[in-house]
Amino acid sequence: MQQGGRAVSEPDFSEGAAYVRGRFVPLAEAAVPLTDWGFSRSDVVYDVVHVYRGGFFRLADHLDRFHRAMAARQLAPAESREQMEAVLHRCVALTGLDDAYVSMMTLRGRPRVRGSRRPADCDNHFMAYAAPWIDVIPPEVQARGAHLMIASNPRIPDASVDPTVKNFQWADLTTSVLEAHTNHYDTSVLCDAEGFVTEGPGFNVFIVQDGRIVTPDRGSLQGITRRSVLEICAELGIEAAIAPVTREMLENADEVFAATTAGGVMPVARVGTASGVRILGNDRPGPISALLREEYWKRHEAGWHMTPVRRELAEL
Ligand code: PLP
Repeated sequence: MQQGGRAVSEPDFSEGAAYVRGRFVPLAEAAVPLTDWGFSRSDVVYDVVHVYRGGFFRLADHLDRFHRAMAARQLAPAESREQMEAVLHRCVALTGLDDAYVSMMTLRGRPRVRGSRRPADCDNHFMAYAAPWIDVIPPEVQARGAHLMIASNPRIPDASVDPTVKNFQWADLTTSVLEAHTNHYDTSVLCDAEGFVTEGPGFNVFIVQDGRIVTPDRGSLQGITRRSVLEICAELGIEAAIAPVTREMLENADEVFAATTAGGVMPVARVGTASGVRILGNDRPGPISALLREEYWKRHEAGWHMTPVRRELAEL
């Protein structure tokens, strides 16, 4: 572009495009002020949807969950749901990506009244970005089956931080990741203080026992991928339930797998602690986990729950 006789380069959105305070900027330039409660208090709700081969997967379900989370935390940004949806499309369109990780957040913001400690005085604001695809468990680890450590710290109680409201209060999850890596595991899963399995850092967990699938009924996000897995199980005639899963059930499962937007169905090959590890099956993804992984991506190829990205929005 020429401006006043000087060449001005177009912004480069190839590594990500973000929406910040009404403007679209390259992701690397997107920032939050130090005094924003979204940063200083993790006072923020978020959601993540993926784009696969040019289409959003279950976009309406992600927006529904995001709006429930905002309502639960009394967050009310200026943008309507339709405006947010258009922002997400435009972020992806600007990047030109076919496969993307798309995050939306509403932050509490800063108090309009200096020194105020009242959340109601804050200027809630919506932010979003699209970035190249991310897998929370690297694809090569998914292929061999992840090594999952049962954390020694418990998940924060549901009554303290509601896990169904997707949030950045990750201290317990991050503590478990640090421990897992110290002990040479790929990632972790947390139990609650009563010994029931909850979830991992960024994914729901499933066990397979005698051909039946169970995923925890507590301490976890109501994952959209989890819902997809349950729908696929129903179609394939595989018995599956959301029900209590004890630590013992996890330790003795025939198969274990994880599920998330950023990775899909991710098989687990080993489960253990600092004092010992159990190898599942033949130290490879189990047959039901592998089948569900295949079916999940096969349905993506067929356009299941897909909303095409509105590419024309890049030209606005
Ligand atoms: N649990 C946690 C803590 C997560 O952060 C996520 C996703 O990021 C999930 C579960 C999986 O949810 P979904 O399948 O909706 O991505």
